Formats: sequence, C-alpha cells, structure tokens
Amino acid sequence: MKYYSTNKKSPEVSLEQAVIQGLASDKGLFMPEEIPSLPAKFFESIEQLTFQEIAFEVSLAFFGDEIPENKLKEIVYDTLNFDVPLVRITSQISALELFHGPTLAFKDVGARFMARLLGYFTQRQSVVDEDQNIHVLVATSGDTGSAVANGFLGVRGVKVHVLYPKGKVSEIQEKQFTTLGENITALEVDGTFDDCQALVKSAFMDEELNEGLFLTSANSINVARFLPQSFYYFYAYAQLKKEGKSDSMVVCVPSGNFGNLTAGLFAKKMGLPIKGFIAANNRNDVFYQYLKTGEYIPRPSVTTVANAMDVGDPSNFDRILDLYGDNYEEISSEIKGAFYLDDEIKNTILKVWNEYNYLLDPHGACGYQALVDLLKEDEQGVFLETAHPAKFLETVEPIIEEKIEVPDKLQSFMKGEKQSLSMDKEYKSFRTYLLALE
Ligand SMILES: *Cc1c(COP(=O)(O)O)cnc(C)c1O
Repeated sequence: MKYYSTNKKSPEVSLEQAVIQGLASDKGLFMPEEIPSLPAKFFESIEQLTFQEIAFEVSLAFFGDEIPENKLKEIVYDTLNFDVPLVRITSQISALELFHGPTLAFKDVGARFMARLLGYFTQRQSVVDEDQNIHVLVATSGDTGSAVANGFLGVRGVKVHVLYPKGKVSEIQEKQFTTLGENITALEVDGTFDDCQALVKSAFMDEELNEGLFLTSANSINVARFLPQSFYYFYAYAQLKKEGKSDSMVVCVPSGNFGNLTAGLFAKKMGLPIKGFIAANNRNDVFYQYLKTGEYIPRPSVTTVANAMDVGDPSNFDRILDLYGDNYEEISSEIKGAFYLDDEIKNTILKVWNEYNYLLDPHGACGYQALVDLLKEDEQGVFLETAHPAKFLETVEPIIEEKIEVPDKLQSFMKGEKQSLSMDKEYKSFRTYLLALE
C-alpha cells in the first residue's frame, strides 16, 4: 500500500518510508491510498474473536502487503498484551477502558505498535543502514512522552528524545520517562510545552540537519501511531454485539489532536457499522466551532483539567478533511461535537462517582457527558476512557473528597531515579545537541 500526502505536493511513499519520515516532505500528513474493506463474514462473527485476533485482521488489511504475516502477528500480539474492558455505566452508556497498558494511557497501543514496526524496519535495513539510528523526537505535556518512551524502550536502532517543559509535568508523569535510561533521553526544556513543540518542528524543517540524521515523529501524525487505534472501535463493536446491542452504536471520543477519532473514522470506512461519532472537547473547542459553522479557526490552546486535550490546532484535522473530500455536510453529519468547561467536567466526575460508583478521569468525563447530552433514545453509546483517574490525582481527589488508589504500575515508576538533560528553549542549543548524535 502506498501513502500520499494530504498536501499532494510530494511523491507517494511506502509504509516504511511513511513511518520513518513521519511527515511528508511537503509537510502534509500521510494517508493510505486506499482504505481496505473487511468482508461481511468478519463482522458476522466478530464477537467470537479476541482483541488480538480482531486487531490482527484489521492490521493485515492495512499492513499485510509490506510485513510478513507471522511478523505482523507477533507485533500485534506483543503490542496488545493487556485487557481493554468495556464497562457498563448506564443502560445506554458504556466505557471502553483503554488505560490498562504499561503507562495507563490509551497512547500505549499506538506507541508500542509503532515501536515494534520501526524496530522491524531498522532490522530489515532497506532504507536505513545497519549502523544508523533512527531518532524519534517527541514533545510532551505528559502522557505522550511516557507512552512513547516506554513503548520504545530497548528497541534496537531507535533512539528516543523526549522534550518536556521544566516544572510543568506532574512528578509521576516525569518519572515515567526520565527514569528509563537505555535508548531514552529526557530533555528538560526551560520553557513551555509550546516551546518544546516548536523545537521539534524546527528540527523536522531543518533540511541540513535531516541530510545526516533520520528524524521521525511519534505523535499521532505518524501513521504507525494513529492507525492501530482503529482496533478499539472494532473491539467495542464486538463487545456490544455480544450483548445484542450493536445495532445503533455511537462512539464518543475525548479529543485533542484527533488521532484517535480519525482512527475511528477509518474503522467505519473499512465497513464497521458505527452509526455515528461524537467528538468531546474541553474549552479548546476549535473543532466544535468548525462543526457548527463550517469554518476552521485555530487558536492558541488554553489550560484545562483535561490537559491532554489542550490543543488549539488539532494536527489530524487535515486527515479528516481529506477522508471526506473536504465535504463539510458529510463531516458534520458523521461527527457531532460537544465541549465542556472545567466546572462541568468536575460536576460530571462527582455525579458519576456518586450515582454509579464509577470514577472518571477528566478526559473520559467529557466523553461520558457528551453521550448523556447527545445520545438519542434508540442508540447505544460507548465512550473511550483514555486515561486512568489516578494519573490526575490533584484534580480528582478534591472532587470526590476521597483518596484514590494508585495502581502498582504507576507506583513502581516512582522508585526510579530521575535523569534528564537541561536545555534552554533556543533552537540553536537543540540543534547542537542533535548534531552530536549519530
Ligand atoms: C492524547 C489524549 C487524548 C486525545 O487524543 P487525540 O488522539 O490527540 O485526540 C485524550 N485523552 C487522553 C488522556 C490523552 O492522553
């Protein structure tokens, strides 16, 4: 399968090149030239399959012509070795808990899949040489850095550089990517998250630098990061089908850069019978405004309690436009939108805790509330619970006025020793650092 750029000003590339490059040379996002359909037979008995079996079928359709079947199976089975429970909250609403991976973030799946794919490509050595490393640059406000660092830990031929804003990530998040060592380096930037992102962007744009180094991104702009997220949607459908409730399934996705939602749109185009989507946002409601007005007006992000969704110019917006041939009518009939202010998010967390004894995290709370507000009587709603509430202790505990249990997986990170390199926010400094790599 070939991949084209959403800007359509650069040549089509192979999967391997798309993954290694991250962004197309015309700065567009890569899209598969064709979206494969899965056979009706697959959907008829999908409820009998495990998550791994479903994911393997889906990934064969996308990646099967470039990766040998046994290798792909190994990558999928190795990536998805944890549970993804569907938890019923009301008769109409369930949560698909995507946070049971190693860093308790839904990004674990995409990060692990991409790491294994990249590891396979570096060993195969058709684009990169034996002694050459691929350098993954990732700017993080918390969650992405930990998922990517842990996903790529120990992968040969790949070095990860995590840039994060000094003093602006929680201690537990910082520990998740500064204590690992090996092929993971943490760069503590004296600046904001936006500064970190600007440094990474400058490095990708720096032609001279890119002549000597393989630099790639592990954000959801990378096809290997976002496409595997389509597995969730098939799995959610299979779980509802088991209960005989899959006929009018609506999926609600707490969204920031819209990688996750875009993966869901791909699943539907592959034939998955999803009735519709809801994009749930916090106060950063650029996409909601687009759905309402047809005009896309990016603006600087503002800080909220659901900080992984604090995005003012979602990077996958162009993919959504491309997927629907820029047809606003189609996009706005397929996807509904909702957004919530911090107080509303907190109210939802408290209400669901009191009424159903289910603890939402601030991102999932937007998802749940959007289903409450928008679901029609005959519909079944599934929202993606994207993070474990213990990752947002400072927000969640005061709301419910109770201590919550921190899972062992998170606690064990706290024992490690922080190691990071300090850096100022000037591109010159970051460039010097990168030039010294090999
Ligand atoms: C990254 C993230 C999101 C947003 O996902 P996108 O694919 O960027 O839309 C939502 N919730 C949590 C907890 C996240 O970490």
